[in-house]
Amino acid sequence: ADLCVLVGVSGITMVVLSPLRWSNTLFSWGMLLPVLMHIVVTRNPIGLEIGAGWLVMVAVQTGYARQLRSELARQLDASERNAALAGLLSQAGDDLQAVNAQVAAKNTELELAMEKLNRLVTTDQLTGAYTRRYVFEQMERKAAAKARHGTPLSVIMLDLDHFKSVNDRYGHPVGDRALQAVARAVTGQLREGDILARIGGEEFLVLLPMTDQTAAMQLAERLRQTLAATTITEGDETIALPASFGVAELQDGEELGAWYHRLDATLYKAKSQGRNALVAAA
Ligand code: GH3
Ligand code: MG
Ligand code: MG
Repeated sequence: ADLCVLVGVSGITMVVLSPLRWSNTLFSWGMLLPVLMHIVVTRNPIGLEIGAGWLVMVAVQTGYARQLRSELARQLDASERNAALAGLLSQAGDDLQAVNAQVAAKNTELELAMEKLNRLVTTDQLTGAYTRRYVFEQMERKAAAKARHGTPLSVIMLDLDHFKSVNDRYGHPVGDRALQAVARAVTGQLREGDILARIGGEEFLVLLPMTDQTAAMQLAERLRQTLAATTITEGDETIALPASFGVAELQDGEELGAWYHRLDATLYKAKSQGRNALVAAA
């Protein structure tokens, strides 16, 4: 009987330590062996008490092992689910990153397209200068900036002299080439921030931020000399491209319309002075 108790206790210990079903079963039934041997060897009928003790022990350890197994299964299940969830989450994270990268790439594409479109809309296709609408917009903006900060703002208007005769003599395509040469020559004299626009057939406007009348006159004189020396060739012929110039600085508190009117009048004056001339606004 002592031996049975000893084996029983060690059996329970093993079952407690081992959640495996087979070890539990093996020890439960294995413990029957010393009981049977005890009965066979001693032919002692007190096996009833020992048998009852054995049964209780088996019941206790079986119940305990079952509980242990189910608890373990529950934890295993939970950790598996957690792992699956973590996998899903990281997959979702990867997907999101990929989508984000795609969105960023599309955004860049869109920005570039917008820039291109904007440039296209604000650019004169023949000369590459800005459009009339763009420069008038800019005049408004810069005039507002002058009103706020007091920075000077000037504008030069130029119109090619007797340009109609160039078209009449050499044809429209040559006239187009002349307009391109004019835009190129003028652009070469400007600094960053200056805005050259083609506001009519052979009329250009140069908007000069942070520039007063004196500085604008100096630039206009340089442009007059530059264009007077600019030519294009057609066959054996050399075609000169002189122009007339008007310059006007925006006065404090002056309306845009009044400013433009003064500018236009100076150009008219330059034409009446014999062309290839430069006149400052009164
Ligand atoms: P002025 O010295 O008084 O300015 O004389 P002008 O002949 O330059 O002036 P006018 O305004 O009479 O003629 C402008 C000419 O510019 C008329 C047209 O033949 C020409 N022109 C206008 N736009 C274009 C264009 O896009 N291409 C070409 N080739 N010619 C143009
Ligand atoms: Mg002209
Ligand atoms: Mg004209």
